[in-house]
Amino acid sequence: MKERIIISGAGLVGSLWAVFLAKRGYKVDVYERRPDMRTLAGDGGRSINLAMSTRGWKALEKAGIKEEIMADAIAMKGRMMHSLDGRLTFQAYGEERQAIYSVSRAGLNRKLMDIAEQFDNVDFHFDFPCTGYDTRKGEIHFQHSKTGEKKSLAASYIFGADGAFSALRGSLQKTPRFNYSQYYLEHGYKELTIPATASGEFAMDKDSLHIWPRGHFMLIALPNPDKSFTCTLFLPFEGTESFGNLQSDIQIMDFFQNHFADAIGMMPTLLEDFKNNPTSSLVTIKCNPWTWENKVLLIGDASHAIVPFYGQGMNSGFEDCTLLDELADRHQENWEKVILEFNQTRIKDANAISDLAIRNFREMRDLVGDPMFLLRKKIAAWLHEKYPNDFLPLYSMVTFSHVPYSTALNEGKAQDLLFEEILALENIQEDWKSDQVIRIFEKWLEDKPTKTTF
Ligand SMILES: Cc1cc2nc3c(=O)[nH]c(=O)nc-3n(C[C@H](O)[C@H](O)[C@H](O)COP(=O)(O)OP(=O)(O)OC[C@H]3O[C@@H](n4cnc5c(N)ncnc54)[C@H](O)[C@@H]3O)c2cc1C
Repeated sequence: MKERIIISGAGLVGSLWAVFLAKRGYKVDVYERRPDMRTLAGDGGRSINLAMSTRGWKALEKAGIKEEIMADAIAMKGRMMHSLDGRLTFQAYGEERQAIYSVSRAGLNRKLMDIAEQFDNVDFHFDFPCTGYDTRKGEIHFQHSKTGEKKSLAASYIFGADGAFSALRGSLQKTPRFNYSQYYLEHGYKELTIPATASGEFAMDKDSLHIWPRGHFMLIALPNPDKSFTCTLFLPFEGTESFGNLQSDIQIMDFFQNHFADAIGMMPTLLEDFKNNPTSSLVTIKCNPWTWENKVLLIGDASHAIVPFYGQGMNSGFEDCTLLDELADRHQENWEKVILEFNQTRIKDANAISDLAIRNFREMRDLVGDPMFLLRKKIAAWLHEKYPNDFLPLYSMVTFSHVPYSTALNEGKAQDLLFEEILALENIQEDWKSDQVIRIFEKWLEDKPTKTTF
């Protein structure tokens, strides 16, 4: 067996990274703050899901567990928009065969732990939060939350996958020249439920991610294998339409009646869910460097927590695992070189997806109902069909490709300029497949300072 590596945090990214390291033959010890979720009944009564897309699937494939996870995933081929008067409009996410997939967060986490534990060289230590890292001694500290037992451990390498409020990162923040920022959105979120119908069927189309875009707030719903939907209401904490103003039963019901009338009938436990489920906040965290002396590395939300509007938080954390694994091959498992290069190359991409995620919030809550936005999507899909190697719509670049996020962000900005010109054409609504559109596109392509081939 190879040397010992410690991972702090057995969430989605820590558990997947344990599988990658175990396959390479390292002795892996994973310390997790919470009890073993596999010994707890149910998912706390709620089924919470996440959208998995191409970057996430690639990591699971590399770890050899894609098929197993795919077996319980539900394909969502596009957005189903619910207008105020209940009209439905479907927008495909990409090409015919492309979809994002709804997976259960708890189910995925449990499976990743099961798979990691099948290796003799992996041990999970539950109820054992990291309490800090001693940069002088090179030791990580843990303290058992029930017995109080303390451990100070040294390891060849330590990975911090302990989430947005990482204790390991907390220690690095105290070191000189460590940059750190956290930014809370003025919106919070609350999870709600649409159960299966009385006849045991999905209450809405199951092949879509449902969105009720309402300007400065929105409701979304993703399907679950038990035929329920998990809904998430994104709403400001304060203001006229806000969580702060939804205190009484009447206020809550009036708000839903006014904005999500077609959903109310499908939500028999709305009031109960609204009052019992927490209102959570949405944070963006950026930091730099992600490493301490190329021996300790922060991964996943611990180094780059983002808002969920591009569905890329977990996907980007899983992509961290893919990239680290590729670097490990390239540097023959010289981990200091791996960590050094990862830290040098990955931060710009994490910053880019963080910015893209905030930008997509505006798109989801606001623009998805805007006719000019829909026209832009149509023209973008047509241009991609005609010039598949030269043009890829931004959403597809982020969701269905492995193009670095920083490239996607730059391409997205260039595409904004292109569409500003195209959408300003006089009769664009009637004649959007015109020679004039092609001329503008070809000129844009020629003038573009960086050429990207898809
Ligand atoms: C509402 C919402 C919807 C989302 N939807 C999507 C989506 O559709 N698609 C997507 O890709 N992403 C989505 N995300 C983002 C995704 O949830 C995160 O990016 C992902 O969970 C990050 O995984 P992680 O393992 O880095 O962190 P986490 O999942 O937070 O795991 C961290 C683990 O570390 C443990 N821990 C914490 N502190 C300590 C400590 N001191 N010591 C030891 N262990 C500790 C925690 O208990 C946890 O098990 C969403 C996020 C939110 C909030």
